[in-house]
Amino acid sequence: MKLYNTLSKKVEEFIPNTPGEVKIYTCGPTVYHYAHIGNLRTYISEDVMEKGFKYLGYHVDRVMNITDVGHLVGDGDTGEDKMAVASKRENKSSKEIAKFYTDCFFEDCEKLNIRKPDVVSAATDNVEMYIQMIEKLIQDGYAYLSDGNVYFDTTKFPSYYELSGRNQDDLMVAVREDISEDQAKKNPFDFGLWFTNSKFNDQEMQWDSPWGRGYPGWHIECSGISIKYLGEKLDIHCGAEDAIFPHHTNEIAQSEAYLGHKWCNYWVHLGFLNDESGKMSKSSGEFLTISLLEKKGYHPLSYRYLCLNSYYHNQLSFSFDILDGAEKAYFKLKNKVLKLKKDEVNESDKVKYIEEFKSYIEDDFNTSNMVTLLYTILKDDSLSDGTKYSLIEEFDGVLSLDLTKEEETSIDSDMDQMIQEKIKERQEAKKNKDFALADQIRDELLSQGIRLVDTREGTTYELL
Ligand SMILES: [Zn+2]
Repeated sequence: MKLYNTLSKKVEEFIPNTPGEVKIYTCGPTVYHYAHIGNLRTYISEDVMEKGFKYLGYHVDRVMNITDVGHLVGDGDTGEDKMAVASKRENKSSKEIAKFYTDCFFEDCEKLNIRKPDVVSAATDNVEMYIQMIEKLIQDGYAYLSDGNVYFDTTKFPSYYELSGRNQDDLMVAVREDISEDQAKKNPFDFGLWFTNSKFNDQEMQWDSPWGRGYPGWHIECSGISIKYLGEKLDIHCGAEDAIFPHHTNEIAQSEAYLGHKWCNYWVHLGFLNDESGKMSKSSGEFLTISLLEKKGYHPLSYRYLCLNSYYHNQLSFSFDILDGAEKAYFKLKNKVLKLKKDEVNESDKVKYIEEFKSYIEDDFNTSNMVTLLYTILKDDSLSDGTKYSLIEEFDGVLSLDLTKEEETSIDSDMDQMIQEKIKERQEAKKNKDFALADQIRDELLSQGIRLVDTREGTTYELL
């Protein structure tokens, strides 16, 4: 099993702490707003990772947090708590905001066939754990009290810059705007573990602590929840690539300082989704959610199909043209699978394909090769329809594209409608003697595997 590890910047052989078992921690959403489709791409990749490990026979323990306190607008401890911003925006309590957007997040996940991890824990449910960790960090000299807040002293942790692969000066330049102006910090990259005396004393969610009433910083949540539910040794920690610094860098520092040994062996980071304006975000460009795609008439799983056709570490470009292409390809694939006869299954014919599929999982979750393999299977004349169906059904347990699930609204009729419209357009073009356009329409359909057949009775089509 090969995995790209951000820690070593290399593809490495994956060796779990306990043979046959994988402990995975996933940074969950900050529930102050809807998730955009770029956020959801990360969870699709992590879902395939969990299902892929299980297909290979691993026992998987996976934990995800829900950030419902402490994530400030600026990653360098600046700005308000995002939850407080949402409370003001929507005139609701932080609790109401958290519940609403947590539910929305899992509804989106369900539409995308993303399995909910076994343990999902809200940051606000684990405050005692953070307090216990922070007390020990202070005791051992890794954290200090300043101006009422508790900060982690990054100079006490020599490998602080390992994950990001950058030194302090580089980082100063890279994140200049986000460096805290917090005068209470001894060093610019020190980060808040617990806030009491800050500009957010109107913060709604507060708890008693040895340092006064207050609330935890964002980073300590993930360390606390991970150690509480998965123990002192973690196999894989995943998250979006923008979490490398400061979030994951800070998680490593405080966890290893607290535990006194190495904490997590493999750091897996997922690439951004880019639209025309660059990295997709909630504040720039059109706010693309799964519900919006549905309103525009897309099937959510077309988006999953689009994501699976790229390597998950790489950034992926998004446009509606690209999604159109993915939707057509997805419907066509599903259509072909649903048309397979459920005849005899030849188990021995399946073996080589199963081996090949596993090899793609082991090749750092090469999902685009997994999808391509489905087409190879469909084209293999030596396989019975039943064997093809059985293989695809099995592999779809990892890919989760619902390829063998009959839809209430038939994909056949959606696709048929699209083709009939194109046929009409082409007839219109011919009538106007615009043969170039007529040919273009025919060729376009052909490139999607749809061949138009002109007969005396009119034009029909066949799927290739
Ligand atoms: Zn996290």
